[in-house]
Amino acid sequence: MRYCSRCGSEFQDSVVNCTDCPTHPPLVSSDEMRDRGLPLPHELDQHRFVKAGIAEDPVTAQIFEDVLNERRIPTIVRPGRSGVVDELTTGNLLPWWEFLVPDKDQARAAALMEQVKIQGLATADEAGRAAEEEEREGELERAQEHAAPPAF
Ligand SMILES: [Zn+2]
Repeated sequence: MRYCSRCGSEFQDSVVNCTDCPTHPPLVSSDEMRDRGLPLPHELDQHRFVKAGIAEDPVTAQIFEDVLNERRIPTIVRPGRSGVVDELTTGNLLPWWEFLVPDKDQARAAALMEQVKIQGLATADEAGRAAEEEEREGELERAQEHAAPPAF
């Protein structure tokens, strides 16, 4: 079996590129998935990958991916709407992508993605620096932030 390191889908060995992702990234072996800290599809639940955020356009999705990759947070990008039926019935709706990360990284990943959204940061460097500054702003503020309901 071959796997997409972006969305986590599984394919037959004869398949070379992911057909689920818009950019059709090359598939990798199960060993490479492990090296990257990514779960195989049948392990996804056990690995406690949780939703850290949603991107509503391809540009934001790409920035989120870059930011999370740069911080070495294993990320599964699940298309929110996929499949032929969805495309036909919801063709007038915008696409969106769900970002799943290990639960231990969720707070960090969500903070990074929030920074990108709030400040419209264009690069992984900027988002990382902003998130780190926010982390230094004290426990109280962080507690409040985590208590707030997700904005998406
Ligand atoms: Zn994929």
